[in-house]
Amino acid sequence: MDLADELARIKENMTNAPFDGKAADVILFLVCETLNAFERGITSAGFERSQIVYGCLPAGEAAQVDPKTWMPKEAQLRRVLASQSNLVELDYKQGRGRGILSNYRLKLADRTSEEPCSEEESLPQTGRTIRYVRTSANEIKPFFLLRPFLKKEMKNRSVRGVIFLLFFVLFGALITAVVPFLLLLSLVFGPSAVDLKSILSLVFVFMLFWLVWRLVYEPLIRLIDSRVVQAPAWITGILEDPCELEMYRQSDGQWTRLVRFTGECTLCGGRVELKSGKPEHAYPLVGRCINSPHSHVYSFDRMLMSGSYIGPPLPMEQP
Ligand SMILES: [Zn+2]
Repeated sequence: MDLADELARIKENMTNAPFDGKAADVILFLVCETLNAFERGITSAGFERSQIVYGCLPAGEAAQVDPKTWMPKEAQLRRVLASQSNLVELDYKQGRGRGILSNYRLKLADRTSEEPCSEEESLPQTGRTIRYVRTSANEIKPFFLLRPFLKKEMKNRSVRGVIFLLFFVLFGALITAVVPFLLLLSLVFGPSAVDLKSILSLVFVFMLFWLVWRLVYEPLIRLIDSRVVQAPAWITGILEDPCELEMYRQSDGQWTRLVRFTGECTLCGGRVELKSGKPEHAYPLVGRCINSPHSHVYSFDRMLMSGSYIGPPLPMEQP
């Protein structure tokens, strides 16, 4: 495998997929600059700390930070890189005072060496960790009414974002709350006496609107805190397979988009999809294998794009 090809793949992945945080910024910078260096004919490009800081921050900001404290920890960088590729690794040489500066370089992982290059890979290969992949931005088609808003990604504070928020979320939520309330008022202050029939119809209406709240609005509110939730069916349309809504921060604000995270079950090779962790797990989202959804269960880490086995004890492990 050629380093340039692999770096180009990582670059495309990281530019399409949202990544928050300094470590991801640094890795993307290293990937892009190493590729640039290749184009100029330099086969091995190393970067020192202040170069990286100036590459990742706007010039005014970069001048004010201390590169030494700003740089993310080496382990964080390795983890972010490992979430993108297991073929490339970070070669870091610490600076030793005057003249010798710290140096960060990307290189192809040395498969022959015994030393594991990340925590994840040092785990025994017993089918315990899986890697997730994320679909690209326009792979999932939303419900046709929502297509103008969520076709690719949607910036929350943009015309599209505000229209979406006002019409689909606030206006809808208002109706959901006001209609049962008005009905209740009309019963209490209405001319006719309250009878069993009107109480029953009120209960029915409340249940209906509670359902609307649970299915339509609650996931959107949960999204703000959880960053990833299962997309409600009304967003994706009936024909689309289940997928997720993801909200992420970029330098210019918050964005929302439809994605699908999938993995390959290390126990049976089946497709792993994100599902609710209930009832056996406390996590809101877990990866469940479609072949055995309640046994082949994995945790889900959105940032590291990996998960470990959290299902029931495996037969071979029992005494
Ligand atoms: Zn499986």
